[in-house]
Amino acid sequence: MSLPTIVRTNTAELYDAYVMKNFGRAPLTLVRGEGVRAWDDTGREYLDFVSGIAVNSLGHCHPAWVGAIRQQAGQLIQSSNLFRNPLYGELARRIVRQAGPGRVFLCNSGTEANEALIKLARLHGVRKAGEEGKCYKIICAQYAFHGRTFGGMSATPQEKIQKGFRPLVPGFAFGELNNLQSFADLVDGETAAIFIETIQGEGGIKPCTDEFLWGLRRLCDQHNLLLMLDEVQCGLGRTGDFYAFQHSGIRPDAIGMAKGIGGGYPMGAIWAAEKNAELFTAGSHGTTFGGSPLACAAALAVLDVMERDDLLAKVKANGAAWKADLEKLAAEFPKQIKAVTGRGYMLGIDLHGEPAPYLALLRDEGLLCPSAGTHTIRLLPPLIATREDLDRATAMIRAVLVRKDY
Ligand SMILES: *Cc1c(COP(=O)(O)O)cnc(C)c1O
Repeated sequence: MSLPTIVRTNTAELYDAYVMKNFGRAPLTLVRGEGVRAWDDTGREYLDFVSGIAVNSLGHCHPAWVGAIRQQAGQLIQSSNLFRNPLYGELARRIVRQAGPGRVFLCNSGTEANEALIKLARLHGVRKAGEEGKCYKIICAQYAFHGRTFGGMSATPQEKIQKGFRPLVPGFAFGELNNLQSFADLVDGETAAIFIETIQGEGGIKPCTDEFLWGLRRLCDQHNLLLMLDEVQCGLGRTGDFYAFQHSGIRPDAIGMAKGIGGGYPMGAIWAAEKNAELFTAGSHGTTFGGSPLACAAALAVLDVMERDDLLAKVKANGAAWKADLEKLAAEFPKQIKAVTGRGYMLGIDLHGEPAPYLALLRDEGLLCPSAGTHTIRLLPPLIATREDLDRATAMIRAVLVRKDY
């Protein structure tokens, strides 16, 4: 393996001078990645459990993924949706194989996928009411995160995200996660859909219980509502199931995907069951870049490696063992840790205190990971992470807990 390049730069100064300040960034400049590891501009190595925020499914620069992108880049990169491209068809087939009979639309990000779902809910409302503007409401969950466009933001009931941007898109109401009655109470004649994350990510790694999902399925069937799941973060193998909802056995009416699907190449997607997919007709929705041959090649490489290397089974088994180890840490450090949540390679360590000082100490130990919500350390290793990688992370987390205990 070649040694990482040391690329001392004036990046911090450039950011200070020229980059918009809409992110609170860690004082770290990453320049290279390989597998579970990433290097900063001083040559320091980290175990990267941010994974581009649940994006780099195969870790950094997986040879099969890089090879597929290189090959496709030399053949056809972008061709528009005015024509067919063979990779789009194949990727749609593979998604349908996982999600069930239905159809796929490809876009470029999570918020774009969710925007398409929100538009789909509106079309369903028109079908249901027989006219426009009569049935358009969507019930989401408190602490949800669905993105930053007007639709996504309106579905995201957080002051820090909505502040300054009102008026928002009308018609969103918010129930309490895992409280079926609170959702049922919000349903009225104008409701078109229920839209939730199967496992809340940004809100703090909070899974829907299976019972709650069964209840929502029944509620949607009773009232002719679409059950739409945002699997942008928890889908694509992150939990050890291809989709997190598969754990419960329910089938939704539509699914939003993004983050992990392109393995680091920007891509979003929605799947909808046939009778809902047909609501989108020629001209009713679109995208210039979505589903380009290059993006599809990247996504197909991700799916190929996931299958070839049996990554779902590994994530499921390793993730369960890792969660048990982290729960032991929670028992050992009860003054610091409240609980460990999540499944597979999407785990949260719920703290009594704020996560920021922990993240800084973890960086110091050599582990990169994001926070979630107000009190959670989020752990998102790439799906290729081995038991040994997870054990190394556990040891670093333990070292930080010991340091914080003094
Ligand atoms: C990240 C995320 C989004 C937004 O995705 P972008 O690609 O950043 O637009 C939407 N929903 C969920 C659940 C997410 O985690």
